[in-house]
Amino acid sequence: TLTSKTAIITGSNSGIGLGVARELARAGADVVINSFTDRDEDHDLARELSRETGANVRYIQADMSKGAECRALIEKAGACDILINNAGIQHVAPIDEFPTEKWDAIIAIMLSSAFHTTAAALPLMRKAGWGRVINIASAHGLTASPYKSAYVSAKHGVVGMTKVVALETAKEPITANAICPGYVHTPLVDKQIPDTMKKYDMTEEEVIEKIILERQPSKQFTTVEQLGGTAVFLCSPAADQITGTTISVDGGWTAL
Ligand code: NAD
Repeated sequence: TLTSKTAIITGSNSGIGLGVARELARAGADVVINSFTDRDEDHDLARELSRETGANVRYIQADMSKGAECRALIEKAGACDILINNAGIQHVAPIDEFPTEKWDAIIAIMLSSAFHTTAAALPLMRKAGWGRVINIASAHGLTASPYKSAYVSAKHGVVGMTKVVALETAKEPITANAICPGYVHTPLVDKQIPDTMKKYDMTEEEVIEKIILERQPSKQFTTVEQLGGTAVFLCSPAADQITGTTISVDGGWTAL
């Protein structure tokens, strides 16, 4: 069990981050959930998760698009045995029409944030004598799709950085890996459905089956519980020698 370990999950008031936070809390870790907002419902969510799992759960506000706030998140938590870099956004447009501010935001939130949090967390892991860096990359960290230049670049970058962190910590009881989900039915994916329905003149069901799950041979969404379970596995002794690699949870996408 993960009792007496502290897990920090960036971007975890929704979707995959929240699902991973829940599984780590169920496994006994103290959990820090995060987003850039500071609403009552964010703190309520931490209280609910604590009630549900019996774990210590705190909400710490920090904007992952800002390097100093990424580092402050780790410092405020005070301990970080398990770091899950998960915060993310999406924007879909051809590269010659891709808004520069969207490019900058995606690279900042999904790639640079992982640099800053990892840099701040490693000294704490070394002090504790154990650590896990788990980056939520994507099938788009290993393959590409059109119109997702910033997302695919950020995710490939995260996979590269994962390998570097693994090499820099190879002789220590610290591992760094990336989980590469296929499509998961979260708000991030939901937001892409209306535009795609319009673009292809399809119903929501057609968009899900023919477009979104087109490349997912299982024709099923990956679930947040499956991703949480993969993270818990990476924190187990069975995974002590798993470092610098990617684990695809994508229904066969990257086998195509
Ligand atoms: P989501 O929209 O449900 O969650 C994104 C989270 O990031 C939210 O908690 C949001 O508050 C947070 N966030 C956004 N901007 C932030 C900022 N500036 N600072 C702090 N937090 C911020 O989406 P999701 O699908 O759960 O995505 C989570 C991660 O999983 C992302 O990195 C995404 O790229 C990745 N992923 C998602 C899918 C999928 O199909 N949904 C597939 C592969 C990878």
